[in-house]
Amino acid sequence: MALNLLMLGPPGAGKGTQAEWFAKAHGIPKISTGDILREAVKAGTPLGLQAKAIMDRGDLIGDDIVIGIVRERLALPDTTRGFILDGFPRTVAQAAALDAIMAGRDPLIVVDIAVAEGELVRRLAGRRVCGSCGLNADGDAALGTTCQRCGGTLKQRDDDGESVVRDRLQVYHRNTEPLIDYYRARPTFRSVDGAQPAERVTAALAEAVEAAANGRRQGTVA
Ligand code: AMP
Repeated sequence: MALNLLMLGPPGAGKGTQAEWFAKAHGIPKISTGDILREAVKAGTPLGLQAKAIMDRGDLIGDDIVIGIVRERLALPDTTRGFILDGFPRTVAQAAALDAIMAGRDPLIVVDIAVAEGELVRRLAGRRVCGSCGLNADGDAALGTTCQRCGGTLKQRDDDGESVVRDRLQVYHRNTEPLIDYYRARPTFRSVDGAQPAERVTAALAEAVEAAANGRRQGTVA
């Protein structure tokens, strides 16, 4: 069965980092709509030009645009053994569209990474990314220091300033948190405590996915 995984959770929960590790460990692609949009902004494509101002103020890009991006990406052959979605869906309309895209494929496993609000603000304010390769360098990395992966310079994401962070959290509560209720009743839904150290979250995520996959195989709630 394909490992079709979706990560839910507020901005700053560590979804991106966890998704990257998980994807590498399982040899499946990580599909992040935020990364795809940031690439488009960097490349100055029509999509990027349209998206930049919306992203800079922490708002959501229109459902039709991101649904189109994900539909095209999931049609590529490297997703047949599975994939991990990070940052999509972010609205109930996107989740409903994803269900339609997934018709005839193995069911989605959905893991919510839960972290309390105060911790999120602290983490997002300290988050650093590499300006060249996009690596997330959280923790004690300082602005302007060197990326360990490619030698680029670490900086703050344009949308990680404090007021934009608060706006993004509001957008999360309003639009994305309802997805927990959208998915909760499914036997393949799991929640993981994202406030633990990153290695523990990785282990908990692996266990949650395993349990959900077993439940899916048996057609029961694990
Ligand atoms: P992220 O890296 O996932 O935090 O995404 C960064 C920004 O890209 C978000 O604040 C949105 O402006 C935009 N974005 C990413 N994914 C989506 C999505 N699924 N729906 C709408 N906007 C998105």
